[in-house]
Amino acid sequence: MAEKDEFLVVPKLEHRRLSSLYSDDEILDDDGEAASDPANRVRHSWKDYGLSTLQDSVYLPSLGRITPSARKEDPSPPLSPVIRQGWLDKNPPQGSLIYQRRWVKLDADYLRYFDSEKDIYSKRIIPTSSITSISNVGEQKFEVVTHNRTFAFRAESDLERSEWVSVIQDAVGDHRSSGDVGAHSLGPSSVPPTPEMQGYLELRGLRSKLYVVVSGDKVFLYKNLEDYKLGIGITSIEMNVGNVKDTDRRSFDLITPYRIFSFAAESDQLKEQWVEAMRESVAEALSNYEVAKKIWSEESNRFCADCRATMPEWAAINLCVVFCKRCAGEHRGLGPSISKVRSLKMDKKVWTEELIQLFRVLGNERANLFWAANVPPSEDLVPASCSDDRRRFIAAKYREGKYRRYHQLFGNQQELDNALCINVQSDDVLETLSLVFCGASVNCDTGNPEFPTTISLAQSFNQKLQVELLSQNRNTEVPRSEVGGPMDTVHYMAPPSITHNGFLFKTASMARPITERKSKEEFSRRWCTLNDGNFHYYESDKNATPNGGLKMKEIVCLAVNPPERHGYDYTFEIYSDSERLYLFGADSQESVKEWVKSITKSFIPASAEDLLNRDFERIGRLKYKDGLNLQSSRVGCFALVGSMLHTCFEDSGGEEVIHLRKLQELSIQQENEVLVLVERGRTLYIEGERKLDFLGWSAAIQQAARSSGDTLCQQQLTESDIPVIVDRCVDYITQCGLTSEGIYRKSGVNSKIAALLESFRRDARSVRLKEGEHQVDDVSNVLKRFFRDVEGGIFTSEASQDWLSTTGLTDETQKISQYQFLLGNLPRVNKATLRALVNHLYCIQCFADMNQMNLHNLAIVFGPTLFQTDGKDYNAGRVVEELIEHYVTVFNVNEQQLQKQLDEITVIIKVRENLNAKVPPSGSGDFICTVYLEEKKETAEQHVKIPATMIAAELTFEILDRRKISVRDKDYWCCFEVNEKDETERPLHYQEKVLPVLHSLGTDSYLVVKKHISMEAMLVYLASKVEVSKHGMMKFREERNLLGLGLGAGSFHDRYFILSSTSLRLYKEVRSNRPEKEWPVKNLRVYQGIRKKLRPPTCWGLTVVHENEKHEKPERQQWYLCCDTQADMREWFATFMSIQHEGSVWPADTMKVRANRTAPLDVRLGNVSLIPLRGSENEMRNSVAAFTADPLALFRNV
Ligand SMILES: [Zn+2]
Repeated sequence: MAEKDEFLVVPKLEHRRLSSLYSDDEILDDDGEAASDPANRVRHSWKDYGLSTLQDSVYLPSLGRITPSARKEDPSPPLSPVIRQGWLDKNPPQGSLIYQRRWVKLDADYLRYFDSEKDIYSKRIIPTSSITSISNVGEQKFEVVTHNRTFAFRAESDLERSEWVSVIQDAVGDHRSSGDVGAHSLGPSSVPPTPEMQGYLELRGLRSKLYVVVSGDKVFLYKNLEDYKLGIGITSIEMNVGNVKDTDRRSFDLITPYRIFSFAAESDQLKEQWVEAMRESVAEALSNYEVAKKIWSEESNRFCADCRATMPEWAAINLCVVFCKRCAGEHRGLGPSISKVRSLKMDKKVWTEELIQLFRVLGNERANLFWAANVPPSEDLVPASCSDDRRRFIAAKYREGKYRRYHQLFGNQQELDNALCINVQSDDVLETLSLVFCGASVNCDTGNPEFPTTISLAQSFNQKLQVELLSQNRNTEVPRSEVGGPMDTVHYMAPPSITHNGFLFKTASMARPITERKSKEEFSRRWCTLNDGNFHYYESDKNATPNGGLKMKEIVCLAVNPPERHGYDYTFEIYSDSERLYLFGADSQESVKEWVKSITKSFIPASAEDLLNRDFERIGRLKYKDGLNLQSSRVGCFALVGSMLHTCFEDSGGEEVIHLRKLQELSIQQENEVLVLVERGRTLYIEGERKLDFLGWSAAIQQAARSSGDTLCQQQLTESDIPVIVDRCVDYITQCGLTSEGIYRKSGVNSKIAALLESFRRDARSVRLKEGEHQVDDVSNVLKRFFRDVEGGIFTSEASQDWLSTTGLTDETQKISQYQFLLGNLPRVNKATLRALVNHLYCIQCFADMNQMNLHNLAIVFGPTLFQTDGKDYNAGRVVEELIEHYVTVFNVNEQQLQKQLDEITVIIKVRENLNAKVPPSGSGDFICTVYLEEKKETAEQHVKIPATMIAAELTFEILDRRKISVRDKDYWCCFEVNEKDETERPLHYQEKVLPVLHSLGTDSYLVVKKHISMEAMLVYLASKVEVSKHGMMKFREERNLLGLGLGAGSFHDRYFILSSTSLRLYKEVRSNRPEKEWPVKNLRVYQGIRKKLRPPTCWGLTVVHENEKHEKPERQQWYLCCDTQADMREWFATFMSIQHEGSVWPADTMKVRANRTAPLDVRLGNVSLIPLRGSENEMRNSVAAFTADPLALFRNV
């Protein structure tokens, strides 16, 4: 009851807790209270959600938290080894654009995310088995798709993103292949199997009930029944560390070392059942460890036999080794005929006393005497090895038996079998292991009619362990080193029937790619023959002994050079698998064609023969992996034809085509050994198995993926056939330029436009438009210039007259159908591009009240641009005007979707307004900002343009210069960020960039330049220190609720702090030896002052904000520190600054900073809106003329 009252008193607080318990995907949807108060919902939909979920760290109420000292004694939970963990941004909840920072952990079974890295219990738990796909979406982002839900994340970099995608794909792949193991699936299915008990329970501290499922040795918490059915949970509780305690009528506690979950059931009776079920779950969890404990009693079984990770929970019952979960995944990949993988925990029935005993007798150590007798240190695994290394190692170790200790009888089947029959009568199981895995046949004939099999023979001698070992290996495949990995060449046997002879010109073979032109003199004339899969070249057709040759099956790639590359006009290159490159030339194209055809036919498998009919420039086989099977690489046949990569993959019947100019991403990864091709919906990894041909392939593929000409369809295209350059520019303008006055009208900076256009032409896909780096007007002009220059124009030279004459039609209906007709006749790419562009322009003019670009203004700009005319004939403009005006009908647009698009744009604009509050945008990137001198009052206002590069010291001197203030010695003029509402201020470090600070300023904040009166004292203090660190007591208080939404429940408590070069640690008391909290110093922002409403115990307080370093509105976690004296506060502050800025708190030479300052004179006047954009064209021309005459006239009012 007490809790209920609390809810009534502070409904807001609990309401927030409730929200943060729920998935951040659906905060709004599930938020009953907000939904019932639409006004409230609208008011907070922007600002609050981005900040809401960090406070109080977990979705679970904090009531049950256990202090660190209490948890110290307890064992750590046996969670699966984490494959990868780190911070990611999670997609914003509905209605917000603000990303949320999450600590994300992946293990073989689950992808989880947490509010912080310290949390034991997750905020979301997504079984990897429920993940259907993972795909890259846009910059640094990726989506994890389950059957019913999509989770979007954003990494810090594309590299980090692809690492995440790859490990998740690995984990998902592991699950897919776990099918071989049969009934005992290694991981949980998306829904926990056969729950012992399920239903709704109240959790103390939460108002709404949770759906709780007790299953096996775990308890799962779900938001509701629906989520349970979908398999998407909040968290799971490992019950081996659990303890269930009956507390009250309907209540009971589930106690773990990390948290106490206080549940309440709906009735006394149900409570009894819950307690019973959970206790059984604890018992089961403990019993699950019975097998493991027995196996682990042999010391060497406590470490993975393959990578030495601790506490391995898996075993191959035939190979007699115990290994970790990650290695288990690779063992499974070998298939059950090689490795029979079982869990020590889950597959209890398998573990007979004999089998357990066998594992204790052999143990990883002895088993490895055989399996790992000859491991080169360079190939050895460690617990952190990547899956590729792991896969390679485990396949080499068990499938190929590469590291085995060879039995002395190896190779002699009869002797081996004989030795096995003798040995199974003894207790030497290691010898049996060695014999069996060196080729002795378990099923051999013993020659003893009474005991015809080795098993029965062993039985007769009562050798139970031998029986067990032999039984497990009745159907085992013996390692075959000759198989040489997944790259099976049998597939590629050349058909022997092809013969061809003739003269060719040949250079010496090379081990490096050919970069220079080979003159005719470097070629020698050779008689060449192709026969029975062998190619030979002779001094002349009279010679009987060849000068050299190569086998067709050694050829991995053939490339046809463009004419005139070398001294001989027609040449081709052959790459062999021994890393040699052969260059051949001929006088006639016909002759080269014949040879290419014959050779290719001889080394390409029959299944890929269709590729031969293509006019390829390069053909060959390569190792690849793709989305469906990342386990192991396979070999495919590839042919490059223009910008199309034709592929014949193993096992997939037909031929597939990859449109290289439409790739979303093309990159070389892993030290240039993998070429990554990202198409919509799939990723293809081409592996550089050999260096030479891979270099050739990657250069050719990259070249082919570029734009090849000046027409629209020769550009790099998006999936929807729009040139990437158009797509990127439109996107950028939509994001950053919709409110920019006179967008598309203003001119931008010529040199920048030319440079940007050039980089788009070089490789549009790699161009990333970034705010602050690129100006809206430069980008808009790049787009215009592109359309002006594109060969044939968007309307095509054939049809443009028809488009122009359509404007003459008087009947509206007739006109629209004529436009539709012409549109229908445009080439595919032109049509798609026109549609995208008109859609964009339509959106622009919808916001004409902000950007002043109405229909007419846009038409003036785009008519001549799109028709590539001089603008004298307004018909061009009229076409554009009419297309925009009738956009919905001409293009047959779904109006609902259009409205949705406009709503999204409105959202973008609002967010940007929030960010730029008090900072009127001028163009983009640069901001004109109000900075005060000494104090905030009107007369002290200065308006300064802040370029992206400006640092605080430059801003300070800019202000001082304007006011002609000379700086005296020991005057520490400094720029402060002042936050009125929070009653805090922060001196900017002199090298700090001002623009990001402006972006993060709230509406109650401003910048002021004033003297830093504590600076001298701080510098003196720092100078006295040998080592920059500090420790001591401070009073600490956490922000416990939403910023700005009422006061938290916390109060100030004494805590002990240690500030070192990397982190700030908080200890409960001086004697504590484990910190309660820890933050990296570089992520902390320290403000002087604490809001008085929080009743700080002293007036020497610091407000500390912990935030991520993203450029978007950061998520903040805020707390307060109070010092006893001013000096103490200064020292803490100085230490923070010194650590954060590597000892440089104040510039050594202020005059130098002042002198180096970039001239404030604005070279980008074109970016400030000076032209009245309404009115007729003539009026505009006049005002442009006036502007040209006196460019500063309009600027003087500023
Ligand atoms: Zn391992």
